[in-house]
Amino acid sequence: MRIPIIAGNWKMHNTIDEAVALAKALKDEVAKTDVKVVLCCPFTVLGEVKKAIEGSNIALGAQNMHWEDAGAYTGEISADMLKDHGVDYVIIGHSERRQYFNETDETVNKKVKKALAKDLIPILCVGETLEERESEKTYEIVKSQTLKALENIEKGEVEKLVVAYEPIWAIGTGKTASPEDANAVIAYIREVLKEKYGEETSEIIPIQYGGSVKAANATEIMNQEDIDGALVGGASLKAEEFLAIVNF
Ligand code: 13P
Repeated sequence: MRIPIIAGNWKMHNTIDEAVALAKALKDEVAKTDVKVVLCCPFTVLGEVKKAIEGSNIALGAQNMHWEDAGAYTGEISADMLKDHGVDYVIIGHSERRQYFNETDETVNKKVKKALAKDLIPILCVGETLEERESEKTYEIVKSQTLKALENIEKGEVEKLVVAYEPIWAIGTGKTASPEDANAVIAYIREVLKEKYGEETSEIIPIQYGGSVKAANATEIMNQEDIDGALVGGASLKAEEFLAIVNF
């Protein structure tokens, strides 16, 4: 029922030339797939990537946004500015932003709320650290992050949400959660959504896995019952590798 979403998170990579070349290399192959493919680009290349993917079934995403509409917020980008560039998806609360840029559950909540209000699809990232996993707090952490991110967001608003479960210890480390383990945490996140919004709504929301997804493990991960896609970092920077994931 839920269509898988494979999103590339380019992080702080790709100049305009590199970005356009990568987008063009993906376009024709992605046209053959039924999964949704999203490229979450740095702000500086959004405009050119949008042109490069024109007429294709690839969607454009950003990696962050501010929750205010406009104002004296030096260095920030608003939802309207993203929409100006044809952006449909925006990653919110990535662990790197929580870790290095003081993103908190509270700011994540404001951003998710604003993105939904502006008709952008937030890809809300949640996930535990290695220490939290080792002290068996994974479920508690993902529940708390999910509920805090969705505070004061009503059932009618949340239907466009995408969640990405990204265990922090699996990001960029080559370590992945075992597919069964990732599936169990994702099934639990869906339970949390069900408790808050009811079964029907919880069944609509896609939940991706992220953390060292590559061509070699994509099939196994994507074949898990509750996993609805992948948020791919490093492996999304090479066309061939990313396409292999898209064609899992
Ligand atoms: P890697 O795929 O490089 O581990 O990154 C995962 C990630 O953080 C995607 O948002």
